[in-house]
Amino acid sequence: MIGADSRAVRRLSLRAGCGRMPIFCRPMLPVSTLSTGSPVIEFHDVHKTYRVASRDVMALQPTSFRIEAGEVFGLIGHSGAGKSTLLRLINRLEEPSGGRILVNGEDVTALNADGLRRFRQRVGMIFQHFNLLMSKTVADNVAMPLRLAGTYSKGDIERRVAALLDRVGLKDHARKYPAQLSGGQKQRVGIARALATEPDILLCDEATSALDPQTTAQVLQLLAEINRELNLTIVLITHEMDVIRRVCDRVAVMDGGVIVEQGPVTDVFLHPQHATTQRFVLEDEAVDEGEQRDDFAHVPGRILRLTFQGESTYQPLLGTVARETGVDFSILSGRIDRIKDTPYGQLTLALTGGDMQAALSRFDSADVHVEVLR
Ligand code: ADP
Ligand code: MG
Repeated sequence: MIGADSRAVRRLSLRAGCGRMPIFCRPMLPVSTLSTGSPVIEFHDVHKTYRVASRDVMALQPTSFRIEAGEVFGLIGHSGAGKSTLLRLINRLEEPSGGRILVNGEDVTALNADGLRRFRQRVGMIFQHFNLLMSKTVADNVAMPLRLAGTYSKGDIERRVAALLDRVGLKDHARKYPAQLSGGQKQRVGIARALATEPDILLCDEATSALDPQTTAQVLQLLAEINRELNLTIVLITHEMDVIRRVCDRVAVMDGGVIVEQGPVTDVFLHPQHATTQRFVLEDEAVDEGEQRDDFAHVPGRILRLTFQGESTYQPLLGTVARETGVDFSILSGRIDRIKDTPYGQLTLALTGGDMQAALSRFDSADVHVEVLR
């Protein structure tokens, strides 16, 4: 890509992780085993209706989908879309109105009170407003699930709390109270507490929505590290595309109690099919459709949007195609970014002159996704 290659590389190195060492009991798994492909969470025709003032509100329409072990699965949608309802059904903070929910093959809709109590130790949860006990110290907040479990000795609890606080970067804050911490630090306490009983699944309901962008990035980095170190399956709700882009492997887009689109984040965000997803993408890129139409009216020739992904992001393709086919380009808009570990670029170009057909087939054969906008 003309002039874009060095920018892409610079951004990649700026965002490189800090590479902390894992400290938890479970061994760090090689990347190739991260997703076993076995479903950890399965919904089979699950639905949920709330009764409000003798009216039924169907918050989740009958929904079937699955989340694989070890993946970071994002749920995105506007307020009221049904995200929290879906998430809270996983650990039965909400009771389903119908359907079956399987976690590690076990039907959680059939659990009795004792089974549910034990099951919830396998599922940690963090919240937008942290939900910490303000009258307890940081260490006591983290120790709480271990004490409630009733199966850990006092020494075990102390050691585990110390290791957890060290892992989330709060070693020196154990005796403080939540009110003495920043928002980011409070959420780190929330994460340490959620991991206390060594869960397989972590549910995150808008966990970064109360944080500023820099703190959000740090908390997401921590979640990504934990996902890798512990092979922890993470289900993460947000209304922000950037959150999904940074950490998620797959995403489901929700609207009106329905999953309207789902798939790998690169597919869903780079080639959105459903109108709701397309709106999210346009909002995120701050594209004003009216302004864009005006811009297009002022340039001659064909207008294309090219999407480069992975290795093709680094190929100096535009210059090569221009030389080979005699087509001239002007760049109308462009963006280079990453989706988790995959770099991508999107360019909107006006093309004039030369052998247009040859240029189009050259892009095609170079693994670049081409949309003809005009
Ligand atoms: P989101 O998390 O995407 O904002 P929710 O799952 O919280 O959406 O809500 C989905 C719909 O269900 C909304 O219409 C909301 O008003 C309704 N709802 C959620 N929780 C309750 C509840 N406890 N009682 C009644 N209605 C609810
Ligand atoms: Mg919600």
